[in-house]
Amino acid sequence: MADKFDVIVIGAGPGGYVAAIRAAQLGLKTACVEKWIGKEGKVVHGGTCLNVGCIPSKALLEASHKFVEAQHDFDDMGIQASDVKMDVTKMMARKDKIVKNLTGGVAGLFKANGVTALEGAGKVLSSKQVEVNKDGDKAVYEADNIIIASGSVPVEIPPTPLTEGLIVDSTGALEFDETPKRLGVIGAGVIGLELGSVWSRLGSEVTVLEAMDSFLPMVDSAIAKETQKLLKKQGLDIKLGARVTGSETNGKEVTVKYTDAKGEQEQVFDKLIVCVGRRPYTQGLLGDDAGVKLDERGFIFVDDQCRTSVPSVYAIGDCVRGPMLAHKASEEGIMVADIIAGHKAEMNYDAIPSVIYTFPEVAWVGMTEQDAKAAGIEVKTGAFPFAASGRAMANNATEGMAKVIADAETDRILGMHIVGQHAGEMIAQGVIAMEFGSSAEDLALTCYAHPTMSEAVHEAALAVDGHAIHMANRKKRK
Ligand code: FAD
Ligand code: AMP
Repeated sequence: MADKFDVIVIGAGPGGYVAAIRAAQLGLKTACVEKWIGKEGKVVHGGTCLNVGCIPSKALLEASHKFVEAQHDFDDMGIQASDVKMDVTKMMARKDKIVKNLTGGVAGLFKANGVTALEGAGKVLSSKQVEVNKDGDKAVYEADNIIIASGSVPVEIPPTPLTEGLIVDSTGALEFDETPKRLGVIGAGVIGLELGSVWSRLGSEVTVLEAMDSFLPMVDSAIAKETQKLLKKQGLDIKLGARVTGSETNGKEVTVKYTDAKGEQEQVFDKLIVCVGRRPYTQGLLGDDAGVKLDERGFIFVDDQCRTSVPSVYAIGDCVRGPMLAHKASEEGIMVADIIAGHKAEMNYDAIPSVIYTFPEVAWVGMTEQDAKAAGIEVKTGAFPFAASGRAMANNATEGMAKVIADAETDRILGMHIVGQHAGEMIAQGVIAMEFGSSAEDLALTCYAHPTMSEAVHEAALAVDGHAIHMANRKKRK
């Protein structure tokens, strides 16, 4: 038997590494097991988020957005930048450098906080035992508590099996060495729209095939409609109600078959990205005597405080129910570490923000107007267009709007949905407001710096009672 720990965390993604650091900070003897092999052939920390998710995708989104700005927006500002070119190899090298810095940073944080990094595949043998298998060398560690943070992997669908260089998942789409001429994307979810945007900005003709008839159903319909319009204007051909049923490859191209309202269709692409969601990853994770139960969809079953069916075993992040988001995983990690250390901790699952990092960004927290109505809640809403914002004009970012959804009776904020430049930063105001149980009037009475994009949130809150300043008012102030 090897070392004994207070806590062993399996997985060093944003759920696991944050849980491990917090546990160590709280004085618990902590180890974190990781098996991800990075580009240099060694184990790396950071999981999906740092290696093939949030960070590399944002590096490419930022670079491709700047490329578009340099070509189309600079001239109006008096900046002459002719013959703007994109060097895809250099863009990818920058992305890889950022990933390397950050994954190395996690290893550094482990050292600084006294977390023992164990390399290999972790397996829960029993309520207090974890086996770590590195290339066949197995060691068993004991722990009073185990935190599973094994994450998720992309869903594959039978009609479009991944095919080297032609049909790829999100990971493959972060590694193209040149811009494909005709790019197909299956799935108009968050990841599909982000990756479609990257390559569209670099020159691909992008078609997004989405099985559902509705676009971004989790976003307030006014914001979703505006987003669809803006993405279409940028050149993304988003086909709704288009269910992919098959594909054929000839070594150079992919012919995708799909059905829509008109019947059977076909379209030929140079590359196809499959972005149809992610599934929990639990392969090889649970030994026969682990006793940890999965739910009917294959997620590790947990209660509100991330306890599994075994009292000393917790599970967090993408491998459990709830939105598959890095910050949700991290907050669950902090909550569980606190609980193990004997503190009271809980999470407010109603106030988790989501962001789509297209341009403009789409960000939301809480209910849509449609959700609230479906739940029988009477609401009042206020919206403000960035077209009326001075800062948006100065920024050349007048597209989009902010919307606040409040309870008609209590004025409590139920949701905030934004499409606009920096929406991902602005949404924190909605999250904090909801976390503090604020009313729309609380936001309306807050003094915002001028000129800022956030003033649109202020005006949307004012508009809840019909009193936006920079918009034709609907009501007379009493
Ligand atoms: P993961 O990050 O998947 O980490 C799990 C880790 O556990 C991995 O390192 C894995 O190797 C390890 N592991 C698994 N099993 C074992 C085992 N048996 N032994 C040892 N180690 C094991 N989310 C956002 O919030 N914002 C974004 O902008 C965003 N963009 C994304 C873009 C893309 C292209 C993708 C694919 C995802 C994106 N996500 C984003 C989602 C985000 O990456 C995940 O929600 C997040 O990484 C989940 O964290 P996690 O710790 O639960 O799991
Ligand atoms: P998300 O779960 O947000 O990553 O989004 C994945 C999207 O892929 C969802 O909107 C699904 O409706 C869509 N999708 C899943 N299977 C198919 C398919 N066969 N054809 C087209 N779209 C699909």
